[in-house]
Amino acid sequence: MNSRMNYSSQQTTMLEQLSDKRLFDLARSQAYDYLDTLRARRVYPSDNALAALTLFHEAMPQTPCPADEVLRLLHTRGSPATVAQNAGRYFGFVNGGAIPVALAARWLADVWDQNAALYLMSPIVAELEKVCEKWLVELFGLPTGTAAGFVGGSATATLCGLAAGRDKILQTSGWDVEADGLFGAPRPRVILGEQAHATVWKALRLLGIGRAQVEIVPADAQGRLRADRLPALDARCLLVAQAGNVNSGSFDPLDALCRRARSAGAWVHVDGAFGLWAAACESTRFLTAGLAHADSWSVDAHKTLNAPYDVGVVLCRDRDALHGAMRIGASYIPDGEQRDGMRLTPEMSRRARAVELWATLKSLGRAGVTELLERLCRHARQFGQDLAAQGFRVLNEVVFNQVLVACDTPANTTATLARLQRAGECWCGETLWQGEPAIRLSVCSWATTDDDVQRAVAAFVDARAMAMAAST
Ligand SMILES: *Cc1c(COP(=O)(O)O)cnc(C)c1O
Repeated sequence: MNSRMNYSSQQTTMLEQLSDKRLFDLARSQAYDYLDTLRARRVYPSDNALAALTLFHEAMPQTPCPADEVLRLLHTRGSPATVAQNAGRYFGFVNGGAIPVALAARWLADVWDQNAALYLMSPIVAELEKVCEKWLVELFGLPTGTAAGFVGGSATATLCGLAAGRDKILQTSGWDVEADGLFGAPRPRVILGEQAHATVWKALRLLGIGRAQVEIVPADAQGRLRADRLPALDARCLLVAQAGNVNSGSFDPLDALCRRARSAGAWVHVDGAFGLWAAACESTRFLTAGLAHADSWSVDAHKTLNAPYDVGVVLCRDRDALHGAMRIGASYIPDGEQRDGMRLTPEMSRRARAVELWATLKSLGRAGVTELLERLCRHARQFGQDLAAQGFRVLNEVVFNQVLVACDTPANTTATLARLQRAGECWCGETLWQGEPAIRLSVCSWATTDDDVQRAVAAFVDARAMAMAAST
């Protein structure tokens, strides 16, 4: 290496860290240690591991700390307090687990340290975004030319889709939101199913649309928006449909909804955070029939596809509408011909999310995506059957990867879930379904095996027995 005469001691330390790689070797051995013990550990951290986190709550350090000490703190105190999402027996929320090649690709991309805002900042990431856009459009069977913006998750993706829809609707009414804002604008009509996801409401609020402006359509027993209860639509309507109810996994009747919207000139956004993937697989595609007739879609790669966090995608049939809603310009930003990711999303500086998404899709291929999806669905059905055989009530039709489970009484359901969560063998969350507490089980990780399903069912039975014993 050349003379380091001009380097500060801080720089010298950092350069040495880069050149001798000991720090990276340490992180790697810690990561391997984590992976090697992952399946054997508690799925949810113990009370002791959580209590030990107080160590992190110190005053802002005034002086540097050696880098290997920083990593040691993370591993000794942080690792035990993680939730073992990738251990095969985590069924909380709708959280996937990163598949290995995606994780490895991300390690490499972290070293690249790219900013994905502009083509000019990172040609490789811009090209991978283009490739992923094309592949996703193909996998989901969306109209050719549909644009994709890569964001942190479906919450943001939905915001983008609805922003494009709102602007388009107002433009149709002769109103230019960009010039004249929302105050005094004609009111768009927003139509949601009563089971719309909370992030849709948040997106609407951020877009200047209040609760009282929303027309709510009743849902059926599975949580599907009832097409027969849809109000008359017109060209001022923004209709939000759902592919994958966050509790039951059910799908709104997209075909009927999109037909009605099309003929009225309304904009349809499909929240398909985890369920849009059903369209990528022959055996589940029927659930999303009519999908391609919508105008915008939101989907996560970090849920069903098992890419690492955080990769969400907004897809928009009308590329100009998305571009318009996300428009940005500055004297120092060249308006190039190339793909600039930030022009399709709210963010400017962005992580190179397309790298891990590309790696996931490239390594799985369509056949791998199908195999993954079919396994998730098969395990969900298995849970439904096995838990029913053990005397639990399964509250939903298991059409995808979600299972809602209850005991004989609401109190027993709650007590059983508390025991289940404490035991650490697996983890499920709680929800309220048709006014009744339910255990919400989502099969979303590639890592879940037949054995994991059996172990989890056994944990359910044990938890119920303990809850019963405690209550008598
Ligand atoms: C998870 C989820 C969201 C939110 O997605 P994030 O990736 O967490 O932002 C929105 N809608 C549905 C149906 C979901 O399941």
